[in-house]
Amino acid sequence: MKTHTNRIVTDGPPAEICKLFREQQSFLILTHYRPDGDAIGSQLALAILLKNLGKKVETWNDDDVPAKFRFLPQSAMISHPPDELQDFDVVVAIDCSTLPRLGSGLGRVRSRKHFVNIDHHVSNEKFGEINWIVPEAAASGQIVHQLIQFGGFPLTRDIAVCLFAAISTDTGSFMFSNTTAESLRIAADLVEKGVNVGEVSHHVYESYPYARMQLLQQTLADLKLVEHNRVAYFWVTNEMYERSGAKREDTEGLIDFARSIDGVVVAVLFEELVEPGKIRASFRSKHPKLDVNSIARHFGGGGHREASGARITGQPRDVEQRVLEAIHVALKEAGL
Ligand code: 5GP
Ligand code: MN
Repeated sequence: MKTHTNRIVTDGPPAEICKLFREQQSFLILTHYRPDGDAIGSQLALAILLKNLGKKVETWNDDDVPAKFRFLPQSAMISHPPDELQDFDVVVAIDCSTLPRLGSGLGRVRSRKHFVNIDHHVSNEKFGEINWIVPEAAASGQIVHQLIQFGGFPLTRDIAVCLFAAISTDTGSFMFSNTTAESLRIAADLVEKGVNVGEVSHHVYESYPYARMQLLQQTLADLKLVEHNRVAYFWVTNEMYERSGAKREDTEGLIDFARSIDGVVVAVLFEELVEPGKIRASFRSKHPKLDVNSIARHFGGGGHREASGARITGQPRDVEQRVLEAIHVALKEAGL
């Protein structure tokens, strides 16, 4: 099999995972809470693949599937973790960099023979027994595509739709710098398998609730530029959620408005979480020398060089100040 480095792989994690897919019977697929398109798309693609192989499959998430991803095939099979404990042959974590980000699902597993961790986050903590981490992959969906090719498994139209949504969202519609020739080749293959690009885009990018626009209005009204206009940041507060009627999931993608400003190198979106004293910070970098993964890690989070996040304890103004200070240092260290 060809990898991103054109190395031929004949054993290791992909081969071990394919063997489990063929030989084991019951599977649980987990991904991170507050799931995005890559998380949901990759989770469903794996679930459909395994169901087509005749396996018993469960897919859990603490959070609901965001409305814009409910058009995805089999999305209704994703449920909250049950109260009672369950047994599985194999648990697969997909698109999740740390154990706590898997949420409560793992705690509902009484027994499992194997624990597989498939991910593309450079910060992945390799918490599985079999870890297949491909940081060069723009989306976990690309790794699932690789797995399907490697195993010679059937790539149905339903799987293709899920993988296309996964890769499209994590590449910002094939716009971000993580987009590679491989991303585009895989996307072309998925379109050949029957994906209607316009239809997927309609659901994912052109079906936002009006409340999200009202949230956007409020949050952009307070957008700030600092560090000689190279850092843009804004807040989504609990009060804004209440006033707009928007849901937590509607915040996904808002940060792109800050990163799209000419001259901005780092964009930050702060979000007040429901838990008092907890702030979510999302980071985006537009400069190859500025690594926001290391900034997020400084606050106990992680992600990728150009997109990362963290959950930070503290009062809003205090968290804001600490984050802006860390960015100031990072800009200096990067010579920017
Ligand atoms: P977003 O800003 O879209 O929520 O996340 C950007 C990237 O950073 C995603 O790849 C996501 O998985 C990662 N990320 C976001 N928040 C956290 C966090 O609290 N901890 C870790 N480890 N990664 C995060
Ligand atoms: Mn991802």
